[in-house]
Amino acid sequence: CGIIGILGDHQAAPIMVDALKRLEYRGYDSAGIATVNDGALERRRAVGKLVNLADLLVEDPLAGKAGIGHTRWATHGGVTEANAHPHRAGRVAIVHNGIIENFRELRDELDGPWESETDTETVVRLCETFLAAGKTPQEAAFATIDRLRGAYALCFLFEGEPDLLVCARHGPPLAIGRGEGEMYVGSDAIALAGLTNRITYLEDGDRAVVTRAGARIWDADGHQTNREERAVYIDL
Ligand code: GLU
Repeated sequence: CGIIGILGDHQAAPIMVDALKRLEYRGYDSAGIATVNDGALERRRAVGKLVNLADLLVEDPLAGKAGIGHTRWATHGGVTEANAHPHRAGRVAIVHNGIIENFRELRDELDGPWESETDTETVVRLCETFLAAGKTPQEAAFATIDRLRGAYALCFLFEGEPDLLVCARHGPPLAIGRGEGEMYVGSDAIALAGLTNRITYLEDGDRAVVTRAGARIWDADGHQTNREERAVYIDL
């Protein structure tokens, strides 16, 4: 029920766990993170409290300065590690808040086997299909988003792409934060408190391509657009 994304200059895993803690107030039943390290995409997930994910990361650390993280509030599929986000297919991992209404239709189009019972897995599998067909990560993510109906805040992370996050907002809120040579994505400014106070809220239907150099945003009509950056101060 909460999303964090980081293109940073430091190890992302501990920073993401802290950000997910700030999102605890939204409620959750499981949590996970994925990073790109030396190009390789890896993830860790745990059911229950964030401390379980934090403990797992002590046992089995996850290096990398680019990553995505998620606290899940299960809507489709039980509370299991397999259903926890990030979901992954081949070279792409995603975190998702909300509900993909046409997930059955997408499931029917795509080949199994399926790793989870979630609506979300159809999104990541569709994106991998576009990558396999030769699209670039940005093209594949955008083509995927074009197919989705429902409510979603999404953030995509790609193997071999340590300086790229693609995100989209249709319903649940999503914000982009700008740091010094670092960029962040979060469900809200609270997730990003302590990292930056320079916040750009995506509007409904927006999608964004984020690199350490900044963010490019397209509106629901596909026009590249500017969204106002605000200074948001939050006392934790
Ligand atoms: N529908 C997705 C799931 O059940 C996302 C739930 C959420 O917003 O955390 O996994």
